[in-house]
Formats: sequence, C-alpha cells, structure tokens
Amino acid sequence: MKQEIKLVTSDKKEQYNGNEIRWRSDSGNMLHVSHEVRFEVEKVNAQLHSLWRYRHMIPIQNDDHIVSFEEGFTPLLKTDLWGKNVFVKQEQLFSTGSYKDRGATVLMSKAKELGVKHVVQDSSGNAGCAVAAYAAAAGIGCDIYVPASTSPAKLVQIQKYGATLKLIEGTREDTARAALQAAAQHYYASHCWNPFFFEGTKTFAYEVCEQLKWKAPDVVVIPAGNGTLLIGCYIGFKELLESGIIDKMPKLIAVQAQNCAPLYHAFHHTNEKIILQPTVAEGIAIAQPIRAAQMIEAVKDSEGDFIVVTEDEIREAWNYCCSKGFYIEPTSAATIAGVKKYMEEKESGLIVSLFTGHGLKAQLY
Ligand SMILES: *Cc1c(COP(=O)(O)O)cnc(C)c1O
Repeated sequence: MKQEIKLVTSDKKEQYNGNEIRWRSDSGNMLHVSHEVRFEVEKVNAQLHSLWRYRHMIPIQNDDHIVSFEEGFTPLLKTDLWGKNVFVKQEQLFSTGSYKDRGATVLMSKAKELGVKHVVQDSSGNAGCAVAAYAAAAGIGCDIYVPASTSPAKLVQIQKYGATLKLIEGTREDTARAALQAAAQHYYASHCWNPFFFEGTKTFAYEVCEQLKWKAPDVVVIPAGNGTLLIGCYIGFKELLESGIIDKMPKLIAVQAQNCAPLYHAFHHTNEKIILQPTVAEGIAIAQPIRAAQMIEAVKDSEGDFIVVTEDEIREAWNYCCSKGFYIEPTSAATIAGVKKYMEEKESGLIVSLFTGHGLKAQLY
C-alpha cells in the first residue's frame, strides 16, 4: 500500500519525507503526519476484529511491518450512568490494559518499517507499558523512563515485557527531560512528540462512528493529559467529516483534574495563579503538555470545552463505576466524573465516553 507520507510542522514551513527516521523538525518543532487519504466505508475490512480494519487510513507502507495483537474495535457499551444513557467504550480491555495500545501498534509498526533497533520513551506509566509490549513483539530494544512515584503494577509490567526501566526522581517533566536527552541517541517513541502515535489513537473516532452506524455522536467526553486521545479523536473525526462520512464534528469535552489543570486555565483565560497539587489521576497529571496549543485548537474547533473535576469527584466516580462492575483505574474515573458534571450542567444529546485504563493497574485504598 503505497501512500505519500509527509511530516510537516504546524506552519508547514518545514516538511520531510515520512520515511525518514525523525520525530521532530530540524529546528526542534513538533511534526504532524500529512497524507492524502480519503476514508471509504467500502474499504473497511470487516473481517478484521481490530483497528487494522481501517488499514487504508494508517500510514504504514508495507503490511509485513505491522506489529499487532489484533487490538481495538473495543465494545461501545450503552450503559446507565447516574440515571442517563451514555455510550462507554471499553478501552480498559486492550492487551496492556489501556487505550495507549492504539498509538503503540501504529508507532511501533512505523519503527519497524524504519528499521529502528532501539527506542526510548517516557510516560506516567501506561504509554510505557504499551510501547514496551509492542517493542517486545517487534524485537526492538526499549528503555522506558517513568517518574519514581508511578504505580508499582505498571513498573512490574514494563519490566516483564523486557524493557529497561529508568526511574526518575522528581516531576513528570523531569522524566521527560531525561528521556529527551536519551533521544539524542535513539528513536524517540514518545506518545507526545512522535506524530505516528496519533495515527493510531485516531481509530477511536472511526470505531465510535462505525459502531453508531456511521453517525457522529453529539458529545465525546475524553481525558486531557498530554492529549493523545483528544488529538487522535480530533484527527479521526475530521477525516470522517472531510470524507463525507459524518456531517458534523462532535463537541469534544476534555476533562482535567482540578489539581493539575493548565489547559483548563489557558482555555478559559482564568487569571488564577496555577498551583499544582498531587492528584489520584496520575495518568493525566501533566503540568506542561507539549501539544497544548494543538489541544486547545481542537477543542475550540469542535465547539467543545475543558472542564475540571475535584479529587472527591474522582473518588466518587471510581467507587460508582466499580460498584457497577467496571473495574477501572482511578485516572479513568476522572473522565467519568467529567461525564457526570457535563450531564448535570448541559443538555447533552448522544454522549460517548470511555474507560481509559484497567483497574488492575492502579488502586486507591
Ligand atoms: C494516558 C492516559 C490518559 C490521558 O491521556 P493523555 O493522552 O495524556 O491525554 C487517561 N487515562 C489513562 C488510564 C491513561 O493511560
């Protein structure tokens, strides 16, 4: 499947061939994947019960390079949350226990295609688990940098996949700095910097629309940490819209923990001094998301919003979901607390949200 794939900066001034080994521009700017493809329902391979059913939209040149556990096409369960119907995608059911597998299957397929032998990555846990698992499947060496405070179950998981774990004291940003240094020597399989990750997370939007019989929901409630799902969702819905498959962009409602909400403050131009405090939602405790501008633009363009939830609301949502038989990690409960808040405040329409990660990965006591 030959497609012309380019890597371009936001201002389009720097452009590269998508088959070069690179994850940012020569002047250090972020890159986006650009490839002229049209979504065609007839091309969806319904025989594949995985996100690779959308093969024609995924920028990998050669099928032989695909690294996959047949992931994705997760159930979109219509369920009752606080007395209202919500469609909740069961993204905790991925092989490594979070939706990060969507990005990892595409990114590590690309790494294999590029002939990369070793990658470095940094994360608050789940992206590290996902990249480590796919590196194992691809036979690619892997170093994962995580904050020393990461949930123990995630640390064990990363190491059991055979990755080298680098525990970094300090904040999530200290971890990112350490990985960036290492990325001078190795391919940076970052879920934030590397644009191929978003070419995987965008399949979330495709699946939602296919599962709704090629209709767009009115509202999608998603987490906002580094924005890997938010940006992926935006790309996916936009491609469906531009291909004439759906007739509107859903409102993207992006949820942050009140204790760590830089995007909420930027979006609403609050002049409050931002004080960062710890949160039980470790997966979205991102003080300086590098794709912040892109995330804000996506939410704005969708006529959506950034909202915040408190620690008490996250705990309450976690207890509530578990009591209904959904064993999810506390970070996932932040998004569901956001669903509750949104439904209380707005006339909602058809709402889609998700359980981002499995409860076996992290618990509250
Ligand atoms: C990564 C992650 C998030 C947040 O995603 P971002 O891409 O950082 O916005 C939410 N929940 C879980 C469980 C995650 O692993």
